Amino acid sequence: MKITIIGAGYVGLVQAVCLADFGFNVTCIEKDPEKLRELKFGRIPFYEPGLEDLFRKNLKSDRLKFTDNYLENIPYSDVIFICVGTPPKKNGESNLNFVDQVSKEISKRIKGYTVIVSKSTVPVGTSKRIENILRKKNSQKTYDVVSNPEFLREGSALEDFTRPDKIIIGCRSEKAEKMLKRIYKPLNRPYVVTNNETAEIIKYANNSFLATKITFINEIADLCENIDAEVETVAKAIGLDGRIGPKFLHPGPGYGGSCFPKDVKSLIYQGNKNLTDLKIIKAVDKANELRIQSLFKKIKKITKNKFSNIQIGLLGITFKPNTDDVRESPAVKLAKSLSKTKAKIKIFDPKGMENAKKELPKSIKFCENENEVIKNSSLLVILTEWNQFKNLDLLNVKKLMKKPIILDLRNIYSKEITKLGFKYYSIGNN
Ligand code: NAD
Repeated sequence: MKITIIGAGYVGLVQAVCLADFGFNVTCIEKDPEKLRELKFGRIPFYEPGLEDLFRKNLKSDRLKFTDNYLENIPYSDVIFICVGTPPKKNGESNLNFVDQVSKEISKRIKGYTVIVSKSTVPVGTSKRIENILRKKNSQKTYDVVSNPEFLREGSALEDFTRPDKIIIGCRSEKAEKMLKRIYKPLNRPYVVTNNETAEIIKYANNSFLATKITFINEIADLCENIDAEVETVAKAIGLDGRIGPKFLHPGPGYGGSCFPKDVKSLIYQGNKNLTDLKIIKAVDKANELRIQSLFKKIKKITKNKFSNIQIGLLGITFKPNTDDVRESPAVKLAKSLSKTKAKIKIFDPKGMENAKKELPKSIKFCENENEVIKNSSLLVILTEWNQFKNLDLLNVKKLMKKPIILDLRNIYSKEITKLGFKYYSIGNN
């Protein structure tokens, strides 16, 4: 079976590398010339633990190829996975330009029976939209369109891809379903087989539910701060209820990344378009947006609204650890707000600095390591829970800081550190 993957981003490249590792012949089409050059040189264009080794192994095996040439690949492909971005428009609607472009390229070149699979997160109706594009150039129906949304998380993408909780196959063709099941056979995971529209909405319902869980515990955290309760204990206790479960109950600076914010907004848009007022999801979106303002207020309270001549150190800029992705990162948003004050802002992140530099003002100083950030800071804000921030030498931190004040937005330390002389603020504890 010949497989083509279109788009070598976080989703497409993981899919390409893993399927090549399962023994399939995979060609990945990537239009960005810089990314393509890197890939051909044997380097991956972003950080994902474990991916580079597996990528190199499969590149050597000759089962994995990279190109920008549609003509040489599409006619000979049995299955084509569309893995391009679907960024949000200002009104929340998903921008389907990349999906449309790719569908047009495919429509001009398919020969023989081909299964076209949408792995990108796309609004309900996109499978039909792809079919309409294909139909224009192919009067005889020699293709099937499948919706097969991806659920991997950046930072644990290989594990998630190879051990997914479920595999969603949305289609109306047994032949296409069989081909997808053949591809995913090595995973040996449960399937949910349904129609395209249901598969499309599953992805949005899934991500919006997780965003709701995060937002819920953040609100409980805010209340805990005002009533002398401890949110971590609340989260642990409610998470022990089998009906709730412990995951996604970690209070923090709000959800971010390239998926949750855009998927929540897209679901709201799809609700409005289909005359359904999604009240809970709207509230989640609003609450998450307001969170940065409330964290900024918290910082103002800690500094007594005095920012002149102080240095604030930020540890972490990615939206979560083990990735270099800073898209919609709450850390970036908070750094932007702080950069408008008179404080001097210093940042260190193990992997996200290059991407963050493109987003943040020049006045922010990017440092080589934690100590450079900590030195002379009057406030240290922990924004991303990278492992290396979890075991800082606190006595040394105290020595280096101008004032030993920590705002821990990931609750990786505890009040215990006040015994070392720190003033310690966290989320959902007083
Ligand atoms: P990305 O931006 O990292 O990668 C998309 C890639 O597609 C880019 O490299 C881009 O250059 C390429 N591309 C765009 N148009 C192309 C074209 N015409 N021909 C060839 N290549 C083209 O995006 P991503 O994070 O991998 O996400 C892709 C999709 O998967 C999105 O819909 C996203 O919502 C969804 N998704 C993402 C994640 C995640 O964690 N990143 C998880 C699940 C689902």
